[in-house]
Formats: sequence, structure tokens, C-alpha cells
Amino acid sequence: LSSQDADSSIRLTDTDAALARLSAVKKGYLQDPYIRHLVPRPHLQPPRPPLINIGTFVRATAIDDLVFQWLKNSTKHGTRCQIVSLGAGSDTRFWRIATGAHKDALAAYIEMDFQENTTKKAMAIRKSKELSAVLGDPADVVVAQGGTGLSSPTYHLLPADLRLPPADTLGRVLASESGPILSPTLPTLLLFECVLVYMSPAASSAVLQWFRDYFSSDGSGVLGSIVYEMFRLQDSFGRVMVDNLKGRQVSLPGAAPYPDNASLPGRFLNIGFTAARALTLKEIRKSYIPPEELARISRLELVDELEELDLVLEHYAITWGLFVPPSASPTEWEQ
Ligand code: SAM
Repeated sequence: LSSQDADSSIRLTDTDAALARLSAVKKGYLQDPYIRHLVPRPHLQPPRPPLINIGTFVRATAIDDLVFQWLKNSTKHGTRCQIVSLGAGSDTRFWRIATGAHKDALAAYIEMDFQENTTKKAMAIRKSKELSAVLGDPADVVVAQGGTGLSSPTYHLLPADLRLPPADTLGRVLASESGPILSPTLPTLLLFECVLVYMSPAASSAVLQWFRDYFSSDGSGVLGSIVYEMFRLQDSFGRVMVDNLKGRQVSLPGAAPYPDNASLPGRFLNIGFTAARALTLKEIRKSYIPPEELARISRLELVDELEELDLVLEHYAITWGLFVPPSASPTEWEQ
């Protein structure tokens, strides 16, 4: 593959993620009225197999829960917070938060992805009444970065290749003429939902370090981060497995350094984060999804491959970390 083709197959993983989400919504696993506006011809898209629907459900429920805790914690501290979603693709989380119980906790929601994907998303948002209505008064919604992005009072969609030096990409796109879009003094949550695996470990560390420095040098905002990723992907011959939940052949340069569950928090702890934890989707399904929810989803479709389900789910993990700058008060955030 040329690097151009390799990047286009990385960008297309967003289509897989969006179709998986749409399928889980249509089958009743998840509620999300917004995803259909980000997928072409949503009524014609075929459902995904039960295994993928369940994986999507476990991942989405767990990440929603962590994000929800973050929003609740901010409200408890009497402050609003910021969320930055890196490699956001067609994610609908902003719309779900902005129309949900915790909407007042949100000071800014920033999404970044390759320019091709942000251009497509900006167009889909402008075309959809349901999506644009949530951004506020149309007079306050501006096309940004030469049509490749969008900015509104709370929501910002910005193009960036996260593999490039962060000072040139993140630093540049997060600065605007009227001041930085991202305040270093507000609690801020970074989301990397199925994106770091497509980048080298050095590039992902550089992104995390850039954010850590931004918060430690300029302010007192507590920094949280959630990473969802495939891991433990090398077999005993050193061959890298494909992403089972998507079935697309994409190279996964970020998969190698986190060979097991215990090594996952190292992603954060090795660069000075204060605390970190990881759980596989298998563990989350077994011990963290409420039994009544498991009972509800077990009635949605017939699943023949329950044993296979665990084998697949143990290759996916959610890791979360916390960085508390010296001038912030740590205790209540560490949970
Ligand atoms: N986070 C979304 C979700 O969970 O639904 C999308 C996940 S999709 C599997 C991966 C996304 O990461 C794609 O939209 C892709 O374009 C983006 N991505 C991967 N590498 C990137 C990079 N170097 N810079 C910016 N975006 C990247």
C-alpha cells in the first residue's frame, strides 16, 4: 500500500465504526437519534452480526459511563469542563451530551480528525436540521479552516493529522484569532476512541505529552483521558491480527507496545500521569454492565457464538488516566 492508500483505509475505519453504531441502534442495543444523520442512506444499511452489536454496546456503554462521571464531577466542583475527541470520526457524543441532563457542564467540545473526514462531517452537520439545531443560533456557527471545519460557541470540528508534531497541528488549530479554543484552566477530558492503534507509539505519546504540558504549564485544569483500543494483537509468530470487530485490513502500528492488560496503564503512567486503570471489554461485560441491561440485550437477538464473544472482547480494552497539575486539587477526581 502507498501511504496515500494506507491513510484512506485508516479514514474508512470511521465508516465501519458509524455503521456498527447504527446497527446497534437499529437493533435496540443503544439509543442515539443522531447517528442516522451521519451515515448515507441509513435505512438501507444492513445490520451487523450480533457479536459486533454486543461489542459496540459494551464499548459505548462503558465510555458513556466514564464521560458521564466526568461531567458529573465537574458539576460537583462547580465548574464546567471541556472534552476533546481525537480521531472523532462520525461520533455523535457531542449531540447526545448537548441535549442530555449534563449539557450545562460542557464549556467546549472539540473534535479532530483527518481533513477529509472533518470536511465530510462538517457538510453532514450543515445539511441536517437535527444536527445543526443543537449547535445553537445559525448566526454563531461558522465554517472554519477553509471549509474543512466548523466552529460554534461550544462545538468545534477541526482538521489535524495527529501523527504530525503536535505543536504544529494541535497548537495551531486550537489557537483562534480570539484566543485559544481550549482553556488550560478547565477540567478537560481527552477521548481516543479506537484511534491510537493506527499511530506509532511515539506519535501517540507526543500527543498526550503535548496536552499534559499545555495543562501543567499554563493552568490548573485537571486532565483526564480515555483510550479505547485493540491490544494483544500479535500472535506467537509476531504477526498482527486484523481488527475482528471490523474485519478491515489496516496496519496497526500502535498495537505492539501494550501486549497485555497490565501494560495498558503504562500509556499514561510512563509520561507522568497521576493515575491510570484499564479493563478489557470482557471484564466490563462480566462485572460492570448492570445485570438488567445484560438481560435486556440478551433478548434482542439470538447469539450462537457466546464463547467466541469472550475471545473477541478480551482483545479490546478501555484505559483511562488522570493528570493533576501541581496547582490543582487532586483528591475528588481520583476515582
Ligand atoms: N472515534 C470514532 C468512533 O469511535 O466512532 C471513530 C473511530 S474510527 C475507527 C478511527 C478514526 O480515527 C477515523 O475517523 C480516522 O480518520 C481517525 N484517525 C486515525 N488516525 C488519525 C490521525 N493520524 N489523525 C487524525 N485522525 C486519525
